Amino acid sequence: MTTTTRTTTTPADPVARYVSGREFRMLIAGELCAAADGAVAPTLDPSTGQVLTTVPDGSAADVHRAVAAADRAQPAWAALGLDGRADCFARLGRLIEDNLEELAMLDAIDSGNPVRAMRQDVRISLSYVRGWPGLAQGMHGQVIPASPDGLHYTTWRPCGVVGRITAFNHPFMFAATRPLPALITGNTLVIKPAPQTPLSTLRLAELFAEAFPPGVVNVVTGGAETGDALVTHPTVKRLAFTGSVPVGLLIQRRAAESGRVKQVSLELGGKNAMVVLPDVDLDAAVEGAVEGMNLEVCQGQSCGSNSRVLVHSRVHDEFVHRLAERVGRIRVLSAYDERADMGPLVSDAHRTRVRGFLERAGTAGAQLLAGGGQPEGAPEEGFFLSPAVLAGVEPQMEVARDEVFGPVVSVLGWDDYDDMLETANGVDFGLTASVWTRDLDLAHRTAQLLDAGYVWVNDSSRHYFGTPFGGTKDSGTGREESVDELYSYVEPKAVHVRLAPAASAARRAGLVTAIDAVEAQ
Ligand code: NAD
Repeated sequence: MTTTTRTTTTPADPVARYVSGREFRMLIAGELCAAADGAVAPTLDPSTGQVLTTVPDGSAADVHRAVAAADRAQPAWAALGLDGRADCFARLGRLIEDNLEELAMLDAIDSGNPVRAMRQDVRISLSYVRGWPGLAQGMHGQVIPASPDGLHYTTWRPCGVVGRITAFNHPFMFAATRPLPALITGNTLVIKPAPQTPLSTLRLAELFAEAFPPGVVNVVTGGAETGDALVTHPTVKRLAFTGSVPVGLLIQRRAAESGRVKQVSLELGGKNAMVVLPDVDLDAAVEGAVEGMNLEVCQGQSCGSNSRVLVHSRVHDEFVHRLAERVGRIRVLSAYDERADMGPLVSDAHRTRVRGFLERAGTAGAQLLAGGGQPEGAPEEGFFLSPAVLAGVEPQMEVARDEVFGPVVSVLGWDDYDDMLETANGVDFGLTASVWTRDLDLAHRTAQLLDAGYVWVNDSSRHYFGTPFGGTKDSGTGREESVDELYSYVEPKAVHVRLAPAASAARRAGLVTAIDAVEAQ
């Protein structure tokens, strides 16, 4: 693809206001800096297809500097205690709040996600910044009655330096919230954002620099090689990754090849089932399907999207009709146009990939009921694709099994409950699922039987802070957004105190006891 640097600006142009003429730098040891070798990489505006600016292209040397800084800063950060660390969180929260509009706009410009949704991402991030210290306050050890003459208790300490690698679809939210549980438990951090969407993370780096002591948070931008340097660094004991299954598997392998034993958590893809039972409130379910696809948040580029909708035959035709009509009304425009419900995909290559899924689904016999083309009114040169609804999808089709990670919702009809469950569970992923019915027994039974880590009943998409988010099967390992995640960033230690028998302990201490008196007789 050929690209040209953007030259046209108007006073009202958000690119001119928030990007042009500005330097975006990494954060290492408290200093905002360029890459050690001066390398830069372009970042594109998916709404126009043009280069926005360049950002540092960090190398292994930058990762090494960042890890060394994090390692130096860690003991003092841990010693600060929970209250001291929570003060830094409060400072970060105020800075994010003061810069909400800019952060949301940077995400819209750089990722293509609609700006209204990105404002909501920043607000959600704020609630996490405020929420984590309280959750950490409740962390505790245990006293275990493991023997009759001993005291057995557990305590814990931070893992040390954590490497955090994030995906492109919620750039600010991932950079702002995913590091928090590691930080509040006394770890220090090196963050590597996705190369497609570095801008809001680099702006956040400036806020981290104001809110936290030097070296506690470090941000290094770059691609796969930069990520690999972090994964294989011997000092990084704990790795947390959000991204695709192939890269997740590679990270597990490369972590082992580093020669050091590491703890790796993976938040990977999904092929999530929305199950529609025949007694459903159809309007609510159609709205739930659209919301659950995250079309109006990130063009369906979400791990949690309900990309397979399994609809009972009694309501199937009406559901499909209403869904196609509702999806057809989604306004696809420049991401920073206030009227946009949906923006462009993150890159031209990704749009080509998504179109490929649509073409092959058509060849396999699925019917395209809405979308799949150039949206009316969207700029020709951006990476736009109107949201697509496919009906007549069969469980064995590629589009029903593989993660598209784009604006494609597949509808599958069913009659038999057991067959439906087999289809719902018959994929390699197990991240989210939802059940739509008025029958509470059936809802709970179905929720139990669905092989997924996060299940909604008559709801979709929403994350509830404090409840564990994560997947089964190839959707990952570990759970986030909850107390489970806090404990994943600390290493427990069991302490055993062998107590002497009461009489000899008292005698050694020079105390006269009833036992002494008896022995003296
Ligand atoms: P990706 O796997 O291509 O990249 C993710 C990150 O890994 C990027 O920062 C990338 O630079 C880095 N990376 C690439 N190769 C690497 C290597 N060899 N070593 C270390 N790091 C490397 O994913 P993506 O395209 O950015 O995001 C889409 C995927 O992320 C989808 O599969 C989606 O389902 C998943 N995702 C999952 C969640 C979740 O919470 N489960 C959330 C968002 C996205």
